[in-house]
Amino acid sequence: MKVLVTGGAGFIGSHIVDKLVQEGHTVKVYDNLSSGKMEFIEHHIEKTNFEFIRANLLDFETLKKEITGMDVVFHIAANPDVKLGAKDTKVHLEQNVLATYNLLEAMRINDVNDIVFTSTSTVYGEANIIPTPEDYGPLIPISLYGASKLAAEAFIMSYAHTFGIRAVVYRFANIVGPRSTHGVIYDFIMKLKKDPTKLEILGDGTQTKSYLYIDDCVDAILFGFRHRKNDVEIFNIGSEDWINVRKIADIVVEEMGLTGVKYQFTGGKRGWKGDVPKMLLSIEKIKSYGWKPRHNSEESVRLTARHLIREFM
Ligand code: NAD
Repeated sequence: MKVLVTGGAGFIGSHIVDKLVQEGHTVKVYDNLSSGKMEFIEHHIEKTNFEFIRANLLDFETLKKEITGMDVVFHIAANPDVKLGAKDTKVHLEQNVLATYNLLEAMRINDVNDIVFTSTSTVYGEANIIPTPEDYGPLIPISLYGASKLAAEAFIMSYAHTFGIRAVVYRFANIVGPRSTHGVIYDFIMKLKKDPTKLEILGDGTQTKSYLYIDDCVDAILFGFRHRKNDVEIFNIGSEDWINVRKIADIVVEEMGLTGVKYQFTGGKRGWKGDVPKMLLSIEKIKSYGWKPRHNSEESVRLTARHLIREFM
């Protein structure tokens, strides 16, 4: 396949790129390096089946040119910072909705008819069915980020219906692993590196969510893409259990070999405005297709903490 990977220099994107390049596909990464890093993809630069384009999805002319001749687009690029929406109300509209619209237009004009999209559990908002299945509704996101990803999904679905595009949408739990540059594990390690005697924990520590290791995530993405049964598919992707923030703090502290760390909770049931305190996705649908995760939430967190500590300490 000839694959365009938007956001291919980011955390999840670069792991997908590793796999696609290794499988021998022709891979073109389209990334503006706003949060992605060259070091995540530079080991591919000399390869004949790899190309990197540093460009913005909002630059429509470049996008239209670079998408020519592609078989499929893995649309991973986004601004994934949920907290930011409470301070900057435009960023998710531009980076997640407009960017997706530009991509769909570029696909339509160039006859590229297949898209894989990385969406999120935050489209469900505070679901009252847990584990939450794909057909849960109504979808009431509580963050501007969640709203932007739901809007992007809606554009993808409607383009698929109107212009005959095939689409696989993945709604992720928290994805963790080497190269992650944001999220609770990264945040705790950075704080403890600065001051190993105390740890600020956002919220009351009882927020409980599902975490999935990056290798499982990449496996699931490629599995769902290859085993889809319909032109449009939505899959939840996550592990089958959850873990609370306090326990994550304990794991990070333990993996860093620290003792006597004083936890300071900022209080409240949410870590920040728009934070969904309880999240566990039903993954029965993708399991019925034949995929299941290898790691549970605790293992995923521990493996990630171990890797990131080695990376940053
Ligand atoms: P990331 O920030 O590491 O990756 C995003 C990449 O997109 C970066 O390389 C960035 O430079 C690029 N990018 C952003 N805006 C761009 C633009 N306008 N033009 C070109 N490139 C642009 O984030 P991630 O954690 O790897 O997330 C990847 C995807 O998965 C996102 O769509 C995110 O919404 C989704 N997601 C992530 C998680 C998670 O736990 N990490 C959970 C649910 C959904």
